[in-house]
Amino acid sequence: MSTVFIISAPSGSGKSTLVSRLMEGVEGLTFSVSYTTRKPRGHEINGQAYHFIDRDDFERRVKANEFLEHAEVFGNYYGTHSDALTIAADAQKDLVLDIDVQGAAQLKERIPDAVNIFILAPSREILEMRLRARGQDSEDVIRRRLADAAGEIRNYRLYDYVLVNNDLNLAAETLKSIVRAERVRRVRVEEKLKPILASFEKHKDSTASGA
Ligand code: ADP
Ligand code: 5GP
Repeated sequence: MSTVFIISAPSGSGKSTLVSRLMEGVEGLTFSVSYTTRKPRGHEINGQAYHFIDRDDFERRVKANEFLEHAEVFGNYYGTHSDALTIAADAQKDLVLDIDVQGAAQLKERIPDAVNIFILAPSREILEMRLRARGQDSEDVIRRRLADAAGEIRNYRLYDYVLVNNDLNLAAETLKSIVRAERVRRVRVEEKLKPILASFEKHKDSTASGA
């Protein structure tokens, strides 16, 4: 069974930056490419950043029950396709999802074992600076994202981990540590432990019979 890592953050907190550090730095992870009705930004490639589809197509897929979760964010639809889980499980990889707080709540209900991680900028002022420095959004969009951040942040208690992205290198290392620690904690590790435990058992038998 794959472990599902759900990562959420108010826009501009550094989630994309941290998720790419995580994907580069930890083996055995696969990233779920979401479906969205938003238009591609900058150099975003269809099928890599997102699967870009129109509203009719999205609504048709919702009716066909294709999504594990879906939500409307900043006036666009976003959804995680159910295939993401199967693909990760078949490849024996853990799944990383970059989704908003509504989607995270839906998924946690469906997959209680999922690990929820919330990323926060150190302050509203720093969040605003980062949104401006990124230089991808209009003034209107920046204002809307800052206003929405206040509401999103109130949901931090729903998350297993809250990671403050102050120093980028430290935050990236902490995120990797969360993934590694969760893997050690998981039941499926028992599969790896079986031969180790068996080797001790065998030794106990030979000691007992030799005594
Ligand atoms: P998100 O995916 O959460 O919207 P990004 O990863 O695009 O955010 O980051 C927003 C901006 O902040 C980017 O320009 C990024 O380079 C910058 N950034 C991310 N983390 C840090 C950090 N710890 N310190 C300073 N700048 C950062
Ligand atoms: P952006 O348009 O900036 O890429 O993403 C906007 C927001 O949508 C982010 O908070 C991102 O996490 C969220 N998002 C991206 N994909 C999904 C998804 O599949 N489901 C949900 N619920 N949110 C998503």
